[in-house]
Amino acid sequence: MPRDPDCVFCKIVVAEIPAAVVYENESIISFLDVNPLAEGHLLVIPREHYSSVLDIPPTQCGALFSVAPTLGRALMEVTGAEGFNVLLNDGRAAGQVVSHVHCHLVPRRADDDLGYRWNAKKYSPGRDAELTAAYQKAFAQQ
Ligand code: AMP
Ligand code: ZN
Repeated sequence: MPRDPDCVFCKIVVAEIPAAVVYENESIISFLDVNPLAEGHLLVIPREHYSSVLDIPPTQCGALFSVAPTLGRALMEVTGAEGFNVLLNDGRAAGQVVSHVHCHLVPRRADDDLGYRWNAKKYSPGRDAELTAAYQKAFAQQ
């Protein structure tokens, strides 16, 4: 199984360091984020070490997200949240600090102070069509 001896999440997988584990199955482990954005903030990680979604086999990627309904229901019940964000930071520029693929499940309330910037923009005329063609070409080459 892919493992990085220096990775903090790999150490959690083999119980070399402690974590507040709330759920696990043969593919994933979920535990409390030690520095939560809100009480009950969960992390879900694959047991295998992959730095990026670009490296993870589709079955493992599926396993990671397949627990979202189970975890999300428990999160809503336990925290009394009104909703939750599922977030995956991939790459340093996207805010990834721990280089072991992980999803955040962050409990939300309408009146919480978390916020985030969602500075939506408009496409200039024709640019959306150019990008659609570029995506279709990229998928055809994969
Ligand atoms: P990211 O910025 O997406 O890489 O998030 C990494 C998250 O891992 C942060 O929210 C940290 O608080 C959390 N974290 C780091 N080390 C631990 C640990 N030993 N146990 C639980 N959560 C951790
Ligand atoms: Zn790891």
